[in-house]
Amino acid sequence: MSELDHIGIAVESIAERAGLYEALGLQVEGVEEVPKQGVRVAFLPIGDTRLELLEPTGPESPVARHLARRGPGLHHICLRVPDIRAAMARLVEEGCQLLSEEPQLGADGCLVCFVHPKSTGGVLLELSQSGD
Ligand code: ZN
Repeated sequence: MSELDHIGIAVESIAERAGLYEALGLQVEGVEEVPKQGVRVAFLPIGDTRLELLEPTGPESPVARHLARRGPGLHHICLRVPDIRAAMARLVEEGCQLLSEEPQLGADGCLVCFVHPKSTGGVLLELSQSGD
């Protein structure tokens, strides 16, 4: 069974954008750098899920390229799965293109894998398995 883990939003600056959500009663839970993805992330819990603000740490970051091409805004949705390798294998069987062959270390110590938007009807999909 999958659940919505978070919604990723590309921002130029977490500090500048967090205020909007804080004005709506959300709170930044903590800011973490994920060197492997070239991003700094801030999670804001909302109900059973979270918003994830993604700020690039350098021009080579995939999020920096997204900002350059499309500007800030919705970036991906993340589904939490119980077994990420099993989920990846099922998607490959379905003909989906994964952005990595092996799960990568994401924020919060999670294992993550992205699915190419070409395979999903235009949605960049992240799979996540909790690290504990
Ligand atoms: Zn994410």
